[in-house]
Amino acid sequence: MTVNAQSETRGFETEAKQLLHLMIHSLYSNKEIFLRELISNASDAADKLRFAALSTPELLQEDTDLKVQIDFDGDANTVSITDNGIGMSRDELVANLGTIAKSGTAQFLESLTGDQKKDAQLIGQFGVGFYSAFMVADEVEVHTRKAGTEANEGTLWKSKGESEYSIEPADKVSRGTMVVLHLKEDAKEFAEAYRLRSIVKKYADHISIPVMMEKQSPPEADEENDKEEKKDIQTEYEAINDAKALWTRSRSEVKDDEYKEFYKHISHDFQDPLQWSHNKVEGKLEYTSLLYIPARAPFDLWNRDAARGLKLYVQRVFIMDDAEQFLPLYLRFVKGVVDSNDISLNVSREILQQDPVVDSMRSALTKRALDMLEKLRKKDKEKYDELWQEFGQVLKEGPAEDFSNREKIGGLLQFTTTQSSGEAQDQGLREYIERIQEGQDKIYYLVAESLKAARSSPHLEIFRKKGIEVILMHDRIDEWLMSHLHEFDGKQFQDVARGELDLGKLDDEVDEKQKEESEKAFEGLVERIKKSLGEQVKEVRLTHRLTDSAACLAIDENDMGAQMRKIMEASGQAVPDSKPIFEINPEHPLIQKLDTEPDEDRFADLTAILFGQASLAEGGQLEDPGEFSSRLNKLLLELAG
Ligand code: ADP
Repeated sequence: MTVNAQSETRGFETEAKQLLHLMIHSLYSNKEIFLRELISNASDAADKLRFAALSTPELLQEDTDLKVQIDFDGDANTVSITDNGIGMSRDELVANLGTIAKSGTAQFLESLTGDQKKDAQLIGQFGVGFYSAFMVADEVEVHTRKAGTEANEGTLWKSKGESEYSIEPADKVSRGTMVVLHLKEDAKEFAEAYRLRSIVKKYADHISIPVMMEKQSPPEADEENDKEEKKDIQTEYEAINDAKALWTRSRSEVKDDEYKEFYKHISHDFQDPLQWSHNKVEGKLEYTSLLYIPARAPFDLWNRDAARGLKLYVQRVFIMDDAEQFLPLYLRFVKGVVDSNDISLNVSREILQQDPVVDSMRSALTKRALDMLEKLRKKDKEKYDELWQEFGQVLKEGPAEDFSNREKIGGLLQFTTTQSSGEAQDQGLREYIERIQEGQDKIYYLVAESLKAARSSPHLEIFRKKGIEVILMHDRIDEWLMSHLHEFDGKQFQDVARGELDLGKLDDEVDEKQKEESEKAFEGLVERIKKSLGEQVKEVRLTHRLTDSAACLAIDENDMGAQMRKIMEASGQAVPDSKPIFEINPEHPLIQKLDTEPDEDRFADLTAILFGQASLAEGGQLEDPGEFSSRLNKLLLELAG
């Protein structure tokens, strides 16, 4: 609704409105963080201006000391946060403060539960930044002017945090942005020096530009000073933080809390990180990196266009956010900064892609991140289990993406195995190998639709009998993962449902003899079944992998498994035709009965039912469920007399 040509009132975009509402009603428990968010924005604005000034030095004019200033007025109940950074044009104001540009916001909002406690956590992961001002203010003004524009080209944005905001031209606005908060009745406590200072100390000590507040004169000095004279003195400001980029300080100087707060500043996450690694590299390449692992997956971890990567600085100057060239995709959850002395200041995303310096840094940073994960796993398994729950599926993309680090990534993977007591994926390959049986030269695994299906798979029977551990894979990505991971620590992986079971040295000699004998004895039966099932199977053969079940299905050595097949079908790709191998257990009474069944019709029914059951046991579907039932009913009727 336009009031005049230049002043107008606009509605917040629907998603912004929803988020604002949630913000005000769910995150109220920790109001003071509004200051951290606004100072964080001011610091980003200074970074952006410094970067823009690399190519356009005039932007800085005389105002070269970038800083943020906090003022308050206890009578008027206002707090203002002023920066002389990049500022915003009118269009940018509308885009930045009236809409939410993050992709996937709609789905994110749908995922909120209505449970305030849970939602507050979720919103924390989303990062709400500027809107947190409305937790403490019932009206917010943003006076802003973009660097490089004239003094009369400023804009004033105002909102009560409900459904709309107004926007109007403003003159005499200095470069940068001033956010004025008209405090709510229950937030008046923030218009007070001591409170503001302590919040800044707590949350913003690591900010690399000075955070200025009015100087407080000590009480003794007051007495000595002539009061009349004092009034004329201009307000003096002092920096209340160190104003030194945190990553430039030495590790021993930085406190854990400072690392944590810095993480929140760069990641827009409300929660503490799980782990970090801070390193200065000197030598052929010179750079400093500070990498973090978040405690929770961001809402858009699976969104292909989601921003990822590190914050890039070159010689302390901010260059860009989300520089994704420094880490592989399977480490996209790692956050942090990298500050290089070797990259050119006027680098662009395109140049980064081709820079050999970046390639070397990427492989070093990848190693660094993997080392950090390895260390965490060794030092604090419980924490690592948490991490695995959040990011394990992403790490499983590793072996396919990063050939050279396969072994290292292998050491980070976790699974549920037949030795696990619960459902959790908490067993590593190294632990598996530590428990390996004498003579066992393979790592056995099974891929199934679900953990339940895996646990009840007939393929496990022989392993259970011999006490051999089997990894139970049931994540969607697992079969694909295993097509890229062939060995670990010198041991080959073996899918227990694939090919003919070969237990190598774990098979005893008695087994071998027995096999040969039954092979001969059941030659005729195998032929009869083959004839009866016809095109449905690739092969029929005896097996010794079963102890309880009469039959099972196996996949031929090079055929595609059921999981991969489903993924490919779902994505509309052509799937090569492959048939299962039907394996029968010569020890089972049903099979022995079948061998002596003279009635061909009855033989066909029994064979079809055994084959159907074997498909079901794999979590598969029957090709013709109607026929299966009628055959089964026929037999049941006979039984019932
Ligand atoms: P975020 O900081 O996570 O992007 P915010 O809601 O805090 O989200 O801010 C939205 C955008 O508004 C910022 O990305 C930035 O472009 C702009 N902005 C906010 N505060 C300032 C400021 N003080 N100076 C310049 N731009 C700002």
